[in-house]
Amino acid sequence: MSERSYLDWNATTPLRDEAKAALAAALMLPGNPSSVHAEGRAARRVIELAREQVAALVGVRPGDVFFTSSGTEANMLALTPAIEVAGDKRPRSWLLISAIEHASVRAGGRFRREAIAELAVAADGRLDLAALAGTIAKSPRALVSLMLANNETGVIQPVAEAAALVHAAGGLLHVDAVQAAGRIDCDIATLGADLLTLSAHKIGGPKGVGALVRRSDDIHLPDPLIRGGGQERGLRAGTENVAGIAAFGAAAAAARRERATEADHMLALRNLLEAGLREISQRATIFGAGAERLPNTTLFTAPGIKAETAVIAFDLEGVAVSSGAACSSGKVQPSYVLAAMGVSPPLTRGAVRVSLGWNTSGADVEKFLGAWRKLATTLSKEAEGIAA
Ligand code: PLP
Repeated sequence: MSERSYLDWNATTPLRDEAKAALAAALMLPGNPSSVHAEGRAARRVIELAREQVAALVGVRPGDVFFTSSGTEANMLALTPAIEVAGDKRPRSWLLISAIEHASVRAGGRFRREAIAELAVAADGRLDLAALAGTIAKSPRALVSLMLANNETGVIQPVAEAAALVHAAGGLLHVDAVQAAGRIDCDIATLGADLLTLSAHKIGGPKGVGALVRRSDDIHLPDPLIRGGGQERGLRAGTENVAGIAAFGAAAAAARRERATEADHMLALRNLLEAGLREISQRATIFGAGAERLPNTTLFTAPGIKAETAVIAFDLEGVAVSSGAACSSGKVQPSYVLAAMGVSPPLTRGAVRVSLGWNTSGADVEKFLGAWRKLATTLSKEAEGIAA
């Protein structure tokens, strides 16, 4: 079988070489990072180096990075009424989220259902800032959680503008930067975020490691999800995943160093891919095309496509793509992201996501387009059959 083309980088990325090396080296360390002896201190050093590397990716001090088991856990940890800022212990009364957030934010963390409000997005997939302004005026002391880039469409959200509105109303802003990290700038001060979530496996690190980052140490989360031995300065108990964290750090350093080059590379290929897609099917729709998007993501459909069948057809041709968001059950579910953008259900059901990465090649794009040409021809023959 000829080589496969992996074009599902928003689901997860392959491990970077630097991460693989750090992972392998750290796996050989016998010590527990909490132990005071030399072996323990060696493991501790590995974690603290990774903390510096992750901190540098988002422009905070190392002490403001807390490692977790995933982006999901970091989101869950952030979404709590108990966030103290500069000693102010009064709880956050409301959680405001956009209608296109990841499931781990939609679940609402530790807020009561009645205290959660959803903010609309416009047809181009961007948060409706007027909706935010209107809602936050009525929701004093809100925590607002917004993603920096959407995992399905790649649409980049107006986070800095939102931050200004949130702060003017006395609110706090949590930003889920899981899909954005390594693809666009995620400097926490530029974004105006108070808290920010990262996940290792979207930037070339291993699966099962994430981080919650705070803008500075005047932010305190007194109510951890996992209590016990006091690791991660009491915010996340449990002996640290030393190897996973080491690899996360190495991936973060590589992602920071290579971001501009990788983004240019992905964008050039994504432009080729979209031009080819439109040339093959003039009636193809690329969702969110009117907004600024991540350089690596295309979510598209064309008349007659069913996402589930299309994903299988691509897979048989050696191309891995996805039907919108990867979902743990493996089932294709109608996209709530597209529904929130006002896309009609027949189109929603046909949405196929292609996402590229740093080692995607021109040959991968050609292979995708070859497979698409075949599929599009079959679809138009089927349509003619129906019409006949
Ligand atoms: N947030 C976004 C936007 C995501 O796309 C994902 C994963 O797909 C997550 C959070 C969850 O991250 P993790 O897979 O590390 O739990």
